[in-house]
Amino acid sequence: MVNPANSGEKPKNFIERIIENDIASGNTPSGVITRFPPEPNGYLHIGHAKSITLNFTLAEKYNGTCHLRFDDTNPAKEELEYIESIKRDISWLGFSWQPHEYFASDYFALIYDIAEKLILEGKAYVDSLSAEEIRQYRGTLKEPGRESPDRNRSADENLRLFREMRDGKHHDGTYVLRAKIDMKSPNLNMRDPTLFRIKKIDHHRTGATWSIYPMYDFTHPLSDAVEHVTHSICTLEFEDHRPLYDWVVENSGLESVPHQYEFSRLNLNYTVMSKRLLLQLVKEGHVAGWDDPRMPTLSGMRRRGYTPEAIRNFVELTGVAKTVGTVDHALLDHCLREDLNLRAKRLMAVLDPVTVIIDNYPEDTVEWFDAENNPEDSSAGTRKIPFSRELLIEREDFMENPPRKYFRLAPGREIRLKHAYYITCTHIVKHNDQITEIHCTYDPESRGGSTPDERKVRGTSHWVSAKHAVDCEIRLYDRLFSAEVPGERTGSFLDDINPDSIKVIAGCKAENSIVSIQPGEYLQFMRTGYFCLDAVDSTPELPVFNRTLPLRDSWEKLKKKLGI
Ligand code: ATP
Ligand code: MG
Repeated sequence: MVNPANSGEKPKNFIERIIENDIASGNTPSGVITRFPPEPNGYLHIGHAKSITLNFTLAEKYNGTCHLRFDDTNPAKEELEYIESIKRDISWLGFSWQPHEYFASDYFALIYDIAEKLILEGKAYVDSLSAEEIRQYRGTLKEPGRESPDRNRSADENLRLFREMRDGKHHDGTYVLRAKIDMKSPNLNMRDPTLFRIKKIDHHRTGATWSIYPMYDFTHPLSDAVEHVTHSICTLEFEDHRPLYDWVVENSGLESVPHQYEFSRLNLNYTVMSKRLLLQLVKEGHVAGWDDPRMPTLSGMRRRGYTPEAIRNFVELTGVAKTVGTVDHALLDHCLREDLNLRAKRLMAVLDPVTVIIDNYPEDTVEWFDAENNPEDSSAGTRKIPFSRELLIEREDFMENPPRKYFRLAPGREIRLKHAYYITCTHIVKHNDQITEIHCTYDPESRGGSTPDERKVRGTSHWVSAKHAVDCEIRLYDRLFSAEVPGERTGSFLDDINPDSIKVIAGCKAENSIVSIQPGEYLQFMRTGYFCLDAVDSTPELPVFNRTLPLRDSWEKLKKKLGI
């Protein structure tokens, strides 16, 4: 578990130290260039936010540039929708890559030329082994690999075959182009890795131009070099690919020499982050889409009401290191609550309404009270809320036969209505055992929340005026998975899907000012949590609100428990 950094000057992370050394030794004459290289085969998730924040803030800090490069080498999987969503999410996080937007596919011709150069230099060959044979020939960590019978094909023959592959003369899988490195290398990635494979599929950007496509391990270092990237930062699972990265750069003939550095990826409990698994959740309908508010995707989190500032703060708190760990979801919630507390507009909504009638209040009178929008922020101003004879409060805020320590409304007991008056319950009306009306009197002297005799009440309830209230639907969320590590128990992450991760509450009543709320505004419905207007399912007739999270802070509790 990761401990949030203590306050004060932040110590430098290891990548910052490397960059500062490089700057001091004159290794970055044209400035620091980083890049974020998503494969457009899914929506971005919170793990990507870590990589984005790291790459963009490093560039910012050292007066450099951060490129956005779509790693679109696999024509089968990529879609325009993903490209658009990735751009939207990075912008939402508050970063700008303009004008440095690139696509690996823009370099296909150049990458092809470099492959021909390698062939002519005897550093690459066309192999006719099948994928399965290549796997067998590769050997294992304990056993060296065996050389393919095609390894010593002449350069002329290799060139002829490679051009035929390019010209679509061969079927998928009949040939590949491999680097000629070392079949005995202790690093499996160096045992003649594949550079190009035949794929007779149209590409979303290059159309039918290519019948062959370069592999990621060949494309990535070349793209970095072409763009003069200085620090190519990726996650730890690429550590073993670094020797190949360096081999490709060194043999490319390109002038610029980028270097790869690895840090440990962000792992979060109670969720999955692999795009393959997220895609499965979407495709099989376990969620309503990539932007389902329960998804760990940035679009899901945005729709749920997360702020980009909280996400950035969270990923920065988790630090940049080489040690692998899992971060507790409660830390993310904590960052979010801290931010929302400062900026969320306080409103009143009643999730499970019961009628309160103030018998000594005039029938047709409406009073408009000033309610502060945010006690944490005086610049947020006030709004007017209507008060009338018939009100609605939460059903759970009343008890007919309460225990002694119950401080909410009960027969003969007095409470404060937030921003309004003190009321005392006189009697109730029931229908089929269900309370239908709670009758009260109000104290006109308690206007605004206090009385001349400074009488104290323990409970304060939120409420809405029945005839002014607006109908709405409220969606409460719980974790999408009920296990810390989904799939750990049975091997299938689907087995750990929480069947109660969404609860839709119809018939809620909110104060009338909600009609002007827009998606993207951060709200707190007093005492029930932080909310936002759902950007997808809301209609003017029926606004839908997503609960971002409840008010209680489990990270604070956890900290107490752990004594930190
Ligand atoms: P997935 O494993 O979910 O398919 P990926 O790493 O294949 O993700 P890419 O689109 O290739 O997805 O990722 C773009 C960048 O984001 C890469 O540099 C990758 O290292 C980084 N990244 C992905 N997941 C995480 C994570 N959990 N924490 C930090 N960085 C991440
Ligand atoms: Mg990847």
